[in-house]
Amino acid sequence: MKSVIVIGGGLAGLAAGVALAESGWRVRLFEQRPFLGGRATSYVLPDGEHVDNCQHVTLGCCTNLEDFYRRVGAAGKIKFFDRLLFLDPQGRQGEMQAGFLPAPFHLTGSFAKFAPLNLLDKLSIARAMLDILRTQGQPADLQENGGISMLEWLRRRGQTKRAVERFWRVVLVSALDEELDRTDACFGVDVFWKAFLSNSTGYRMGVPAVPLANLYDGCKSEIERRGGEVILRAPVRGLKMESGELAGVRFDEAREESADAYVFAVPHTALAELLPESVKQSDPSLANLDKIKVSPITGVHFWFDRTVMREPFITLLDTTTQWVFNKTALYADSNGAGKISAPGQYLQLVISASYDLLQKSRQEIIDLCLGEVCEALPAAREAKLVKATVIKEAAATFSPEPGVDRWRPQQQTAVSRLFLAGDWTATGWPATMEGAVRSGYLAAEALLRAEGASRVFLQPDLAPDGFIAMWLGKQKTASSS
Ligand SMILES: Cc1cc2nc3c(=O)[nH]c(=O)nc-3n(C[C@H](O)[C@H](O)[C@H](O)COP(=O)(O)OP(=O)(O)OC[C@H]3O[C@@H](n4cnc5c(N)ncnc54)[C@H](O)[C@@H]3O)c2cc1C
Repeated sequence: MKSVIVIGGGLAGLAAGVALAESGWRVRLFEQRPFLGGRATSYVLPDGEHVDNCQHVTLGCCTNLEDFYRRVGAAGKIKFFDRLLFLDPQGRQGEMQAGFLPAPFHLTGSFAKFAPLNLLDKLSIARAMLDILRTQGQPADLQENGGISMLEWLRRRGQTKRAVERFWRVVLVSALDEELDRTDACFGVDVFWKAFLSNSTGYRMGVPAVPLANLYDGCKSEIERRGGEVILRAPVRGLKMESGELAGVRFDEAREESADAYVFAVPHTALAELLPESVKQSDPSLANLDKIKVSPITGVHFWFDRTVMREPFITLLDTTTQWVFNKTALYADSNGAGKISAPGQYLQLVISASYDLLQKSRQEIIDLCLGEVCEALPAAREAKLVKATVIKEAAATFSPEPGVDRWRPQQQTAVSRLFLAGDWTATGWPATMEGAVRSGYLAAEALLRAEGASRVFLQPDLAPDGFIAMWLGKQKTASSS
């Protein structure tokens, strides 16, 4: 039985590990922390409360993450919602919910009634959407100068200020964790093509009904059931190179481990520190990891003494707080796995690309967000805030800045037996759980290919439906005749 060492127990390492274990390899996965999940995890506070490092959500178009959850028995722990609710400071609500029309018109009804935008805003958005539709998500100017920013792409399509602020920015800053002027338009356009236009279910939002770490219980057992091991609290400290080949990995106390192949599934910043100069020289794609920048996300956790919100989640417009999740409701049927111990209500707020909060104190952030929550949710004004926590993730994701893809290495390297996984590797996707799982599957496929075996783990994108399916079908027939 061939053996592989996987370093890193985030989604990328877990996906690679599970895929390789299923392919008959003996997997030993080493994770430096005492728990799995990496940047998408949860832990227990000293008072016994389970908190996610930050609320994570998936979308219907994330086909590989869905496949991974299914493989490890976690699919039933994700609740899907088909109604997204938006609230502006004037108290006007907007919804996105599929109606009876087929794609790409499924959201037209709710969009027409979307109160936080006026007719001019909507017409400008519709124009840009038509361009995405017409080009099947590939407008010609995306590749200009090695990549243009989303803001520039929107400017060229004459978007109103409010359309940018209350529509494009709201969706994309959350999806891509970066401001529009620092986001490559290819990622922004792709979000709208895959999640909102090409089919009627891609926009549906999946929210875990349990604390995040609970989603990975099945990974460990899947790897162990097939003869492998998951070793926690085991930071890899270096690579052992022999005659230009990777011969092992080093741990504390001079411990070394070796295998037939290695998958490094650590963040790019950690890999850059681990890789010896000789490896960076033998594979130039590994010499530029420091060019990939990072962007922050801040999570704010509020425990109120009573119910202040009925919806499972809402998006706030024109405020620092972007999303408010009703964790009490989301965990409600989780059979104890994420049950909230105290009475009252637990809310989790998310602020992506939270550069402005990095320098603020915990108390300043709590005051700012509490003020916004009280504005948006009248019941919160009467409630007592029992407890609050702020979790700042300064390097939450890689920044999807224009042209970033040229710095993202493939999963197979020029160094024999060395493979990479991680949301930051070349997946075509931004830094998401879907991107991480894709990278793990691609690393497993590349490793098997290098060994002369062939297996496909990567799942196809969500199939187009409605008029889009008919239109693409017609184009295919026309081009083949
Ligand atoms: C606050 C926040 C909110 C987010 N929200 C969303 C969201 O809503 N939806 C979404 O799709 N994505 C979201 N993301 C992004 C998503 O979490 C990541 O894209 C994904 O989890 C990355 O997985 P990964 O396996 O590539 O990397 P990681 O999760 O970083 O995994 C790398 C692992 O390697 C380990 N490691 C590092 N160095 C070593 C070493 N030397 N030895 C052993 N182990 C090591 C780390 O401890 C870690 O467990 C969010 C991220 C953050 C931080």
